[in-house]
Amino acid sequence: ENYHAVLTENRKLFNELQELKGNIRVFCRVRPFLPGQGAPNTVVEYVGEDGELVVTNPTRPGKDGLRQFKFNKVYSPAATQADVFSDIRPLVRSVLDGYNVCIFAYGQTGSGKTYTMTGPDNASEEDWGVNYRALNDLFKISQSRKGNISYEVGVQMVEIYNEQVLDLLSSDNTQKKLGILSTTQQNGLAVPDASMYPVTSTSDVITLMDIGLQNRAVGCTALNERSSRSHSIVTVHVRGKDMKTGSVLYGNLHLVDLAGSERVDRSEVTGDRLREAQHINKSLSSLGDVIFSLASKNAHVPYRNSKLTQILQSSLGGRAKTLMFVQLNPDAISYSESMSTLKFAERVSGVELGAAKTSK
Ligand code: ADP
Repeated sequence: ENYHAVLTENRKLFNELQELKGNIRVFCRVRPFLPGQGAPNTVVEYVGEDGELVVTNPTRPGKDGLRQFKFNKVYSPAATQADVFSDIRPLVRSVLDGYNVCIFAYGQTGSGKTYTMTGPDNASEEDWGVNYRALNDLFKISQSRKGNISYEVGVQMVEIYNEQVLDLLSSDNTQKKLGILSTTQQNGLAVPDASMYPVTSTSDVITLMDIGLQNRAVGCTALNERSSRSHSIVTVHVRGKDMKTGSVLYGNLHLVDLAGSERVDRSEVTGDRLREAQHINKSLSSLGDVIFSLASKNAHVPYRNSKLTQILQSSLGGRAKTLMFVQLNPDAISYSESMSTLKFAERVSGVELGAAKTSK
């Protein structure tokens, strides 16, 4: 277990870097093996309490195949939805104080992005993902502040597919294409034409999300197929009015389930699949570039390179807070995809540790 000493050294470096980058956090979540998957062969060697992760290359057993990572948090497969939410609750609540917050799920298809953000199909309350829990919590807190601050909450839900923005809550089911307001202003609606519905309870939210999910599946043989190729964004707009002073604050929360990050081998696809793959690669790398620029405090942040980053512009950077869930499939078969996911995450977090050094 000689990588522990090195991880401890790295912890100090990481904490220093973390001070610098401020409002960007990366949490890694390893999903469990699913029932019926056979004898599990995992790449996950070690999950530390302080956000350390060590993975092993299945084709290079032994010390040489180890690689270590350090994030703000790493969840082992045993972590529950409630465990995860309890760590992000303060972030979610800050929306009611006028902050803009973006929460992403990144990873290959099947790594648990939708599970983390929404939950499994027909989820019981215990299985609810971040979306339902966040709204539920916002309602609870706003209720408790009643009398002091009066809140209004509205929800939009859009999808980005092949660099086109589609309204997932349109009542006529037409999936009209939407324009984006080119603005960086704090409270402007990035997608002004997307349907916005006021919500006052979690059951309102469940109803809306069901509509959104149904619309998302239109024209696809399976929802899963579409959701792996498009980004979905649930945006929660909050307006709070101070009952004594009359002053008004705005905050918004973007909950983003990204398209699958798997790289398609270009020699194997043509036509529609190739076009989709190119759009996904472009938007995910633009997102990485933007977050990396913010984490490195670059003067120029390249928001304009994709629809995704344009829509999220006012909620990335500045006072806004960003959290990325990096999802991992633990299976040895997914090793190379998992490594590219982890490299992306490292780049985004601005912390690259390199090959696992072993102490002498
Ligand atoms: P993605 O959105 O990345 O394609 P999903 O969220 O659909 O992946 O997850 C793939 C499968 O794994 C689903 O059947 C999901 O219910 C299951 N799953 C993912 N994460 C977990 C978890 N933490 N606990 C239990 N099952 C999970």
